[in-house]
Amino acid sequence: GTIADAVGRQIEGVARGMSGLFFEPVIRLGVTGLSRAGKTVFITSLVANLLDRGRMPGLAAARSGRIEAAFLQPQPDDTVPRFDFETHLAALTGPTPHWPESTRSVSELRLSLRVRPTGLLGGVSGPRTVHLDIVDYPGEWLLDLALLEQDFASWSAQALTRAEARFEAAAYRARLEATDPTAPLMEPAAAVLARDWTTYLQAARIAGYSDCTPGRFLLPGDLEGSPALTFAPLPPSAAPRGSLAREFARRFEAYKAQVVKPFFRAHFARIDRQVVLVDALGAIHAGPQALEDLRQALAGILGAFRPGRTAFLSGLLGGKRVDRILFAATKADHLHHTQHDRLAAIMAALVADARRRADFAGAQTQAMAIAALRATVEEVRSVNGAEMGLVRGTLLDSGKQAALHPGDLPTDPAALLTPARSGADRWLDGDYGVMRFAPAPLSLRPGDGPPHIRLDRAAEFLLGDRL
Ligand code: GDP
Repeated sequence: GTIADAVGRQIEGVARGMSGLFFEPVIRLGVTGLSRAGKTVFITSLVANLLDRGRMPGLAAARSGRIEAAFLQPQPDDTVPRFDFETHLAALTGPTPHWPESTRSVSELRLSLRVRPTGLLGGVSGPRTVHLDIVDYPGEWLLDLALLEQDFASWSAQALTRAEARFEAAAYRARLEATDPTAPLMEPAAAVLARDWTTYLQAARIAGYSDCTPGRFLLPGDLEGSPALTFAPLPPSAAPRGSLAREFARRFEAYKAQVVKPFFRAHFARIDRQVVLVDALGAIHAGPQALEDLRQALAGILGAFRPGRTAFLSGLLGGKRVDRILFAATKADHLHHTQHDRLAAIMAALVADARRRADFAGAQTQAMAIAALRATVEEVRSVNGAEMGLVRGTLLDSGKQAALHPGDLPTDPAALLTPARSGADRWLDGDYGVMRFAPAPLSLRPGDGPPHIRLDRAAEFLLGDRL
C-alpha cells in the first residue's frame, strides 16, 4: 500500500494498545470452537509453521520472504495461563506422536514476527515487529452470552425442554421428580442436582449435542465446586425465600455477573481477528439431530460477534469489533481432497443463516475446510471399476496402518441441513466411525513445519493484510 496506508496502520496499532514499545502493532487472534473442535492442534501447528515459516506458501508474507524472523515472547497479560506450546508440539512431533491435551480454559501465547514492509517502504523503513497474541478459549463460554438475556426461569424452561427429548437426561429428570424446588435449600441436595446436570451436559456433548449450558459446567477450571457453579434448571414454582429454587435463581445471576461477564470483559472484548473451528465431520457422522444442534450452537456463538446484540456487549465493545472471522471445518485430512470442497460448502451453509442474521457489517467472513495437522496420505483404489479416494494413516487404537474411506458427503449441503427433503439422513457412513488416526511420525528438517491442509490460507485470511 501507500505510505499513508502504512502510517495509518501503525497509528491504528498504537491505538489498539501497545506493549510499551512504539509502533509495534499487535494483532489479537481469538481461537475458539467447541470442545474437541481442534483448537489446541490448530494453534500448535500454526505457531510451529510460522516459527519456521515452514509450509506456508499460501501466506503471502511468508512466500515472498518478507517475514525475516519469528520468535516467541512473554505475553502481555501476566495473569492469563500461557498456551503450553512446547509441550503440545513435543506431543505431536515426538518419537511416538500423540495428540496433545485439549483446551480446558483460556490461555495465551505471543508470537512476534519481524516483517519487511511491502513496496516502497520496504527499502526505506526497514523491518518492523508485529506481535501476534493468540488467545485460546472454549466456544462453550461464548454460548453463555445467551444467558445474559435470560433469567433463571426462562433459562430453566428452555434447558428442560431440550433435555426432555434426550435420553442422556433421564437421570436428571428422575432426580427432579424426587426434588421439591420449594423446599428449604440443602447444600448436599443442591450439589447432587448440579452434578447430575453436569453429567447430562457431558453425555450430551459426547452424543454430539452442542448447545449445552452453562458452558462453564463442562470446563469449570478452578471454579469447580463453587456456589456460582452449583445450580441446575428447575421447573417453575412459587418458591419462598430460603428455598432451593430461590437460591438457584440467585446463583444463576451470580454466574452471569461473576463468571460470564468477566470473561467477555477480559478476553473477548479485546479480540481483533477470530477463527471459529468446527468439527463438522463429527457432527455429520453423528446424524441430522447433532448437525442441527451444531448449527444452532454456531448461531449462538456467532451472536457474540454481533455487538448490537445485547446492551452488555455494545457497552463493552464501544465501537470496536472483530473485523475478520474465519469459520474452519477441521480434520479435513479424514477426506480425500476430492471431497474438501463439499466440506467447505457445508461449513458455509452451517453458518449462512447466522451470518445473514448477524449482519457482520464491516467484518469479513470466510468458510474453509482445513486440517491443522495432516495425519493421513491419500490413495486411490479401484472398487468395482470405479475410482475411490481413500486416506491412509496409523490407527490410534491398534497402531496399525489402514487405508479407509469415510463415506461420502453430499454435493449439496441442503441434503444435510434439510434431510427431510432429500430422504437420506446418513452421511459419512463408511469407515468414518473407526477413523481415529494418530499423528504421523515426522522427521522435520530445520525450516520445515508440520504438514497441514490450508493452514497457510487460513493464516493469510486472518493476518495477511496486517503483515
Ligand atoms: P480442542 O478441544 O478444541 O483443543 O481440540 P484439540 O485440538 O485437542 O483436538 C481434538 C482432537 O481432534 C485431537 O485430539 C485429534 O484427535 C483431533 N484433531 C484435531 N485436529 C486434527 C487434524 O488436523 N487432523 C486430524 N486427523 N485430527 C485432528
